[in-house]
Amino acid sequence: MNNNYLLSHRKEEPENGILYIVGTPIGNLKDISERALNILKNVSFIACEDTRQTKKIMSKFNISNRLISFNKNNSLIKIPKIVKDLKEGKSIALVSDAGMPGICDPGEDIARSLRNEGIDIICIPGACAAITALVSSGLPSSGFTFEGFLPKKQIDREKVLLEISKNQKTTIIYESPKRLKKLLKQLFDFCGGEREIIVARELTKKFEEKVGNNINEVMEFFRDKDIIGEITIVVKGIKKGDLNIDRLTIKKDLNDLIKAGLSLSAASKYLAKKNGLKKSEIYNMI
Ligand code: SAM
Repeated sequence: MNNNYLLSHRKEEPENGILYIVGTPIGNLKDISERALNILKNVSFIACEDTRQTKKIMSKFNISNRLISFNKNNSLIKIPKIVKDLKEGKSIALVSDAGMPGICDPGEDIARSLRNEGIDIICIPGACAAITALVSSGLPSSGFTFEGFLPKKQIDREKVLLEISKNQKTTIIYESPKRLKKLLKQLFDFCGGEREIIVARELTKKFEEKVGNNINEVMEFFRDKDIIGEITIVVKGIKKGDLNIDRLTIKKDLNDLIKAGLSLSAASKYLAKKNGLKKSEIYNMI
């Protein structure tokens, strides 16, 4: 292997090899960097999430190198083997199917193991859907929370949704297209329909689109559509000092009061007074 390129920026040649964590495109293959391509060409082998995905990049850029599979199902077995190869001086590239390894993709565990072993990791940065969505959303980007995929278990999911509803920073969420409508409904329940939100679909691809401006409008936009493609959601935080209304509790209370025999108007009036809101705001929640 020609290590000259790989080590050209280093003063001394380390005894161990280096793990290169290489970012790859999230749609548009032209987004790969020259540096990433050089690394993929010159390492001893490439550890990739799905060899079929990585082969697409390799064939587009005429790269031939050995691929081994490295994913969440085999990482426990593969990490010690990779550590051994690195200790023998091999340099290895790690890629995921798309974007940055370690961001909702395999990469975090191996990075931790190598740090514990004192083996060098160099990241060759590339596209990341979260950052691409954030910077193109127009929402505040100086501080943000990345949630990735929300938990599936209801109790854990509601806890995170409650945190999002109170967060003063922008939140970034990954979601599959088939679950987007359900997530939007939950965001509506926890944050209210007026909360600013951008749904970024198919970033960097031919049919890229951003849908905003608030949860009501986005729900309306997708209401009768079959949603396809890859989705990242960016939710604006609340202003410091803004009232954080626990909408879900208010809705539950409203249902209970109506079941107990109160009219919608009387129940809304009561809850408006109790929560320091206008009656119309209670109506808007439902
Ligand atoms: N490692 C990747 C990264 O750096 O962004 C994320 C991998 S995660 C398994 C895949 C999720 O990222 C998708 O379900 C979607 O939520 C988001 N995503 C990936 N590509 C996207 C794109 N082109 N447009 C919008 N969201 C995308």
